[in-house]
Amino acid sequence: VALAGGTGSAKLLRGLAGLPIDLTAVVNVGDDAWFYGVYVCPDIDIATYTLAGVADVRRGWGIQGDTYNALAALSRLGRDTWFRLGDLDLATCLLRTELMGNGATLTQATDRIRKALGVKSPILPATDGPVETWLLTSKGELHLQEFWVREGGKPRVNKVTYRGARGSTPTPEVKSAIRAADRVVICPANPVTSIGPMLALPGFAKLLGASRARVVALSPMVGRAPVSGPAGKLMKSTRVRPDSLGVAELYSDFLDAILISDEDPALKGPIEALEIRCALTDTMMTDLVSEARLAKELLEL
Ligand code: GDP
Repeated sequence: VALAGGTGSAKLLRGLAGLPIDLTAVVNVGDDAWFYGVYVCPDIDIATYTLAGVADVRRGWGIQGDTYNALAALSRLGRDTWFRLGDLDLATCLLRTELMGNGATLTQATDRIRKALGVKSPILPATDGPVETWLLTSKGELHLQEFWVREGGKPRVNKVTYRGARGSTPTPEVKSAIRAADRVVICPANPVTSIGPMLALPGFAKLLGASRARVVALSPMVGRAPVSGPAGKLMKSTRVRPDSLGVAELYSDFLDAILISDEDPALKGPIEALEIRCALTDTMMTDLVSEARLAKELLEL
């Protein structure tokens, strides 16, 4: 079972999918939001598109070669279109919105879409509950998408909340996948906005702690910065050290081992003092070969 957020996770999912294992992805829903009348699930979709071989993995969202005719038309109609959504991507969101409007859960809609795109591995939303990551910032309360996409991640962040998490639960599918897993891999994902919304679900951390699976992680941090995205800034504003030790501390209730960057040898001792095995490697996924190598190292860790 791989716990996944967006960009970094998609690359590792591709590496894991190439190994002779039964892979199930459990994916963050905290980024999900309504735009232009459709329900957009960025992390579920980048996981699905990546495993289907159609993702724009380098950019980190959407479908390769997508066009933006619908968005251009919306813009001509006077709609503010700061949230980019390609035409093919929009089709996915239209189908999901229709299915859910007719009573399907997000889990059922996701399953239908991934099968239609020929993805073999189950892709499970962490919850079917309405969980959204909101940030209290110098520009007021912002949904994660408003903070990151519209505001370019610039406002100061004072607090992060996972709206709806306390009243939601991991789905039965997620519970049984984690209970049956031989190994749980926490993909490189933003600890605050991708793994955080999962851990905020009642019972999720306990599920990991009680699992017979070895729980291992690939750190998204190199030194005191993430490879990409706002993880460092958000870790600081939630008083987590913005490095791999901070990631290990955050996951220490259930983490057995972590792969960190070979640029961070000084962090190995403090991480192992938490009774978490720590190994150093080149953690950058720059091509299919490095994705496959890191996937294999995580299964052997
Ligand atoms: P984001 O913070 O909004 O980008 O949310 P995500 O959950 O999509 O976070 C992706 C994480 O993956 C970021 O924190 C990146 O630092 C990390 N990442 C991206 N590419 C790589 C990579 O090649 N190697 C590693 N180890 N991490 C990566």
